[in-house]
Amino acid sequence: MAYSVTFIPGDGIGPEVTDAARKVLEATGVKFDWDLAFAGDQAQDRYGTPLPDYLLNSIRKNQIALKGPVTTPIGSGFRSVNVAIRKALDLYVCLRPCKLYLGAPSPYKAVDVVIVRENSEDLYMGIEYAQWTIQASRLIRFIEDCGDKVRPDSSFSIKAISTSASQRIAKYAFEYARANKRKKVCAIHKANILKATDGLFMSTCSEVAKSYPDINFETHIVDSICSQLVRHPEKHDVLVLPNLYGDIVSELCAGIIGGLGLAPGANIGDKIAVFEPTHGSAPNYAGKNKVNPMAMMLCGVLMLRHLGEKDAADTLEDAIAKVIAQGKFVTYDMKADRDDPTAVGTAEVAEAVIKKMKE
Ligand code: NAD
Repeated sequence: MAYSVTFIPGDGIGPEVTDAARKVLEATGVKFDWDLAFAGDQAQDRYGTPLPDYLLNSIRKNQIALKGPVTTPIGSGFRSVNVAIRKALDLYVCLRPCKLYLGAPSPYKAVDVVIVRENSEDLYMGIEYAQWTIQASRLIRFIEDCGDKVRPDSSFSIKAISTSASQRIAKYAFEYARANKRKKVCAIHKANILKATDGLFMSTCSEVAKSYPDINFETHIVDSICSQLVRHPEKHDVLVLPNLYGDIVSELCAGIIGGLGLAPGANIGDKIAVFEPTHGSAPNYAGKNKVNPMAMMLCGVLMLRHLGEKDAADTLEDAIAKVIAQGKFVTYDMKADRDDPTAVGTAEVAEAVIKKMKE
């Protein structure tokens, strides 16, 4: 049986890294029926929109997608095509495992942190009112009616946090911890300042934690966790965060494990999962056979696990880990000196991983 998967090459470095990931996935022996679909710049050029209906319909039909990074064309009417895809398909979980592989360019010895980022609300809802709009002046009047004050030349971004969205992301984090034999879930917030919104997120996570007595639960303030992660990343396990902090802490953890070229991710809903790396389309490197495809390949590992193909996932992850440990067939970002002439290209990394799988 072949798995039907929507395959989105994406923009910039997307086509190169997705091609590398597709090749290593096929080399595992698992059969895929790739349903090619375009988003972002590529779709804009072909169909006049960066988010064509057929792309969403393909993902809805297959319920699974492997997606390269996508650029949102300026003036396309979208704040972010990526956020629009997550919203349209209600992919409320952003899962970003940050695992340190031996030989990766990192000063740390052991890191295995899993970010569970709420994907549907917070400041990413894009509810913003610029200072010259009628809505901004209405908000200023409303705030004054409440007895508070803001400067009359203010713009606004609305941070919305709900009990229901906080509940479902907290449940996901605890279920993930249980299924993956993790010991601790830590909810991240700034409730000392944002008492209503982050206070609600924190209290909802604490409430959900009561149903999981087998998993330790902690809460941490977002600025403090950043400092702790940098000093002792090995002490942290599963982190559950509202959308914006999740985005920022993901990149911090990607840095800790050796860079964006090693940080995979998945956007997950009740039925649908879209696997995409933390990194963007890095347009400066497009078409140069230069960037690291391992984040995208590790998305493939996550996808195989999601499909229940445990052996293939282990084989692929093991081969990637061995290529990193050997340090011979790795891209520039994995070298101590970024101009190291022994760095290989994106396609050569795929060849090396396939060769390791066959050994
Ligand atoms: P970026 O992640 O694309 O690149 C930042 C830098 O990180 C690059 O210049 C490069 O030095 C490094 N880098 C990224 N991926 C790498 C890899 N695989 N190997 C080695 N080095 C790598 O971030 P950006 O420049 O802020 O964004 C570029 C575009 O990507 C923007 O249009 C943005 O909107 C888009 N973006 C898309 C997604 C997505 O599709 N999910 C996510 C983030 C950004």
